[in-house]
Amino acid sequence: MRRLVRETHLEPSQLVLPLFACPGEGIRKEIGSMPGNFQLSIDELVKECEATRALGVGGVILFGIPDAKDDRASGAYDENGIVQRAVRAVKSAVPGLLVITDVCNCEYTDHGHCGKIVYREGEAEVDNDATLAWLAEAAVSHARAGADIVAPSDMMDGRVAAIRHSLDAFGFSNTPILAYAAKFASVFYGPFREAAESTPQFGDRRSYQMDPSNGREAMHEMELDLEEGADMLMVKPAMPYLDLIRMARDRFPVPIGAYQVSGEFSMIVAAARNGWLDLDRAIMESLTSIRRAGADIILTYFAKDAAKALG
Ligand SMILES: [Zn+2]
Repeated sequence: MRRLVRETHLEPSQLVLPLFACPGEGIRKEIGSMPGNFQLSIDELVKECEATRALGVGGVILFGIPDAKDDRASGAYDENGIVQRAVRAVKSAVPGLLVITDVCNCEYTDHGHCGKIVYREGEAEVDNDATLAWLAEAAVSHARAGADIVAPSDMMDGRVAAIRHSLDAFGFSNTPILAYAAKFASVFYGPFREAAESTPQFGDRRSYQMDPSNGREAMHEMELDLEEGADMLMVKPAMPYLDLIRMARDRFPVPIGAYQVSGEFSMIVAAARNGWLDLDRAIMESLTSIRRAGADIILTYFAKDAAKALG
């Protein structure tokens, strides 16, 4: 009876697992603040993707940790960059697996910001328009490597239009854009920055990420991304912003994604390790809540655990 009248269903196919690609071979370096998650060299990443695929998980989203960083984020749009090589390896070894790529510069800049830094009256700021060219080039290089979906996460103004334009110009008009449309300046990204080695070396990202207080502004940002050509919209983080996932689901016709970020993951795991929460139940309840709020797609570090539990 309970099954018959259940309102919200969670399926492995709705989940996307974030993975971190790093240089080298045979490397599986655990991320201290995210137990069970690793920086993986491409050979190890391919194995992880095979396991993920076998569990019926909807796909993976790839982040890169480059060999070297510079002030131009050159690793982000290098045809032989870490993510580009990882995509090619995964698409050839695990062809049935959907591969999404994160498109941003912060993992590739030596200062850890998402774009080109310029100085105005001695103050460092991100040059929005110069950054757009880097992003568009990165997105095209990902598509060329075989990415099924590109996901810009930088929050620069006009980036979706710039990426759409370049993808179309280079023959990738069928590659969809999943826009991190409402990305908040959140404390819950802390563990990820250890994982991706992308902590800003000065300042913070509050000038281009959203104020957690602003829901209407989030809807406006999503509307703009949709007008610029986004095919799917994302809210990030997920659990502290369930109201906005619901508002987006009611307002927009496209698939809505939600990113259960590193801090959300680490809180649950830490509490479980202390014996304060039942891990499996916390995973399922948190993911079901995000689905109930209206997310069609959930990016989560629990993707494999949930898929196993769902059998
Ligand atoms: Zn970034």
